[in-house]
Formats: sequence, C-alpha cells, structure tokens
Amino acid sequence: MATDPVCKMQIEEKQAAAKVEYAGQMYHFCSETCHKTFTADPQKYASVPPHGSHGGSHRHGHS
Ligand SMILES: [Zn+2]
Repeated sequence: MATDPVCKMQIEEKQAAAKVEYAGQMYHFCSETCHKTFTADPQKYASVPPHGSHGGSHRHGHS
C-alpha cells in the first residue's frame, strides 16, 4: 500500500496510475492528474525535504 501524496488516497502500488521517484523515495499516484500536480511542485507534497539534513539552521562562525 502507498499513499498518494497529493490527495492522500491509499493506493495499491501496482494499481497506481503513475509513479515517480523524488529525493530517493517512490511516490505513487491514483491518477495522472495527481502525478502532474506533484511534478509541478514536488517540494509541496514530498514528505522528505529536498536538501536532507535536519537542524543546522543556526550556524554561527565560531571556530
Ligand atoms: Zn490522487
């Protein structure tokens, strides 16, 4: 089972209308419409941030 990141619908991987890999993760879509919506703005829907790493927001130049 996979979750369509756009409409949050649960779908069977093999029944997905489309799938795409983004940031090392596979996303499955219930329809071509959701697929297009995702690819138009993947960062909005992807559960993983594109530039990895948490934290490190405050980095002062101490050395
Ligand atoms: Zn969908």
